[in-house]
Formats: sequence, structure tokens, C-alpha cells
Amino acid sequence: MAEFSIIERYFKRTSKSDVSLGIGDDSAIVTPPPSQQLVICADTLVAGRHFPLDTAAHAIGWKSVAVNLSDLAAMGAKPHSILLALSLPTVDHDWLAGFSQGLFDCCDQFGVSLIGGDTTQSAQLTISVTALGWIEQGQAITRAGAQIGDYICVSGQIGDAAFGLQHLGHTLQQRLDYPTPRCHLGQQLKGLASSMIDISDGLAQDLGHILKASDVGAKLQLDQLPIDASLKQLDLQQAWHYALAGGDDYELCFTISPQNFKELSRQQLDVPLTIIGEITQQTGLLFEYMGKAHPLHVHGYQHFA
Ligand code: ADP
Ligand code: MG
Repeated sequence: MAEFSIIERYFKRTSKSDVSLGIGDDSAIVTPPPSQQLVICADTLVAGRHFPLDTAAHAIGWKSVAVNLSDLAAMGAKPHSILLALSLPTVDHDWLAGFSQGLFDCCDQFGVSLIGGDTTQSAQLTISVTALGWIEQGQAITRAGAQIGDYICVSGQIGDAAFGLQHLGHTLQQRLDYPTPRCHLGQQLKGLASSMIDISDGLAQDLGHILKASDVGAKLQLDQLPIDASLKQLDLQQAWHYALAGGDDYELCFTISPQNFKELSRQQLDVPLTIIGEITQQTGLLFEYMGKAHPLHVHGYQHFA
């Protein structure tokens, strides 16, 4: 089957009205809303590396979009559209049908259009998505900006996806296969959060990026980490390992002044938030358990380890 028929059959759909030209020409054309900045990111999923080889095609489609929308959410941006670069070992129609359905299910849930891409053959199934979003001039929430005394917060639960990966078939596998990008929360945090990141490589490592970019330190309360009931049944070290070093949760971790947190609490949120610690002057990441210092050494996910 020719590349063009694959695109036509599985990926061409009518885009939103603000896409001037979608799939079918050499490039797509989008008209930016007045006085907004373009926020853009890309993420690649390699079969066997970023998801187990037997992951359902629908889940792979969903996740390849979700991880990118999560990066936009982590800046406070409103997602707009994606491009899809797909490298397939073979043309498997069942797989393509499931994959494109999962991809469009995620797009539809977050009001995003697929506006272009590339389709090639290669030995390894590889999916690379580029996502575009908008934000008001100067409003993006970066990793730099955490202030001493700010609360450190996370959305939802952490450690779920890593637990799911180790216990395939458990209900938490759903959190690994179908991460929810926190698009709405990300946008609500504009003007309130001082820094933000999405958790893809484990809380300790990802929070570490905020600390480095902001040139501050942090103290985390281990007893406050929002973990699933299944993790609470494990011994503490194991549960903390999932929560601090486990990747793939795609929750948001942000810092916020106590005053802005009060303001945020007055708003309607679509995901629970937990204060897990605070930003300190002393650099590095320290842990406390039940109000006492509790030294821990945590490593997050390393792509080239
Ligand atoms: P070109 O050869 O000019 O790069 P292509 O033949 O690769 O164009 O693609 C034709 C059209 O289909 C383009 O608009 C491109 O963006 C789109 N496209 C190709 N592959 C995909 C895909 N996997 N998903 C969405 N759009 C795609
Ligand atoms: Mg091409």
C-alpha cells in the first residue's frame, strides 16, 4: 500500500476551522491568534524502549499524543495541533486502525488537530509527534522561577505508571498506557505558579531540573507523597522508589507561593493537588519523614544509561 493511501485512510480528517491548510500539501498553514506566542515540542516513542512491544495499538496512539500535550501543559500553553512522523516496519491494517483511533481519541479529548507529518518504512516502529500550542505573550511557566518558601505541588498520583509497568495486567497499567495530560490545570496555573515541569522521568529527577534552573533547593515530605493504595501496601522504601524514581506519570510538578496557592484553591480543578514540600535556600534535595530528616538517594530514568 502506498504511503499516500495510508495517510488518506488513517490520518486525514477535517481539521478545526483555525487550521488554514491541513494534511495534503507540502506544509500545513496555521494562523496564530493575535499576540500569542507559539509553544512547540516533540517527543519520540520507540517500540520496546518507551512502551512494551505488546502494548495495544490504541494505547500507543493515545500515548504518543498525550506525552506531547503534557509538555505543552507544563508551560501553561493551550494545545492546538500536532504533526506525526511515523516509521513502520510493515503495513498492518489492524494496527494502523487501532493506532489512529487512539491518536484521534486523545486529539479529540483535548481539542487538537492532526495537521501533517511524514510516513516512512523502517525496521523499528518509531512514532515522533510534534505538538503546537499557544500562550499569551510572556505568560509561559518555565522551570526557572521557583522562589524560596514556595510550596512544591504535584497533581494526581505519582508512581502509578512505574508500578503498572512492573505489574502488567494490574489496573494501574491503565495509567502507563493512557496517561492524562493535565492541559486544563497547566493553563489555570498561568500567573500563579512560579515554575513547572511535567513528570516523565520520575519526580526526584524532574524536580531536580526545576531546582537547577531556579538555583534553589527543596525539602520533600515523604509521608505527603500522593500514592495509590496499591503502593501503600508495599514497604516504604519500595513505595518511595516508585513515587520518586518511577517515570511516565505525566503529572505536573509546580512551585507556587502560599498566597497564590490559596487563590488556586478557590478555583474548580479537574485533578487533586498535593503539597509535598517547599523550596529552600540550601541547594539540593532533602527528604523528611514524619517531621524528621530522612536521607534517601534516588535515581530517575536515564535514556543512555
Ligand atoms: P512531502 O513528500 O512533500 O514531504 P508527503 O508525501 O510526505 O509530502 O506527505 C503528504 C501530506 O501528508 C503532507 O501534508 C504531510 O504533512 C501529510 N502526512 C504524511 N504522513 C503523515 C502522517 N503520518 N500523519 C499525518 N499527516 C501526514
Ligand atoms: Mg515526506
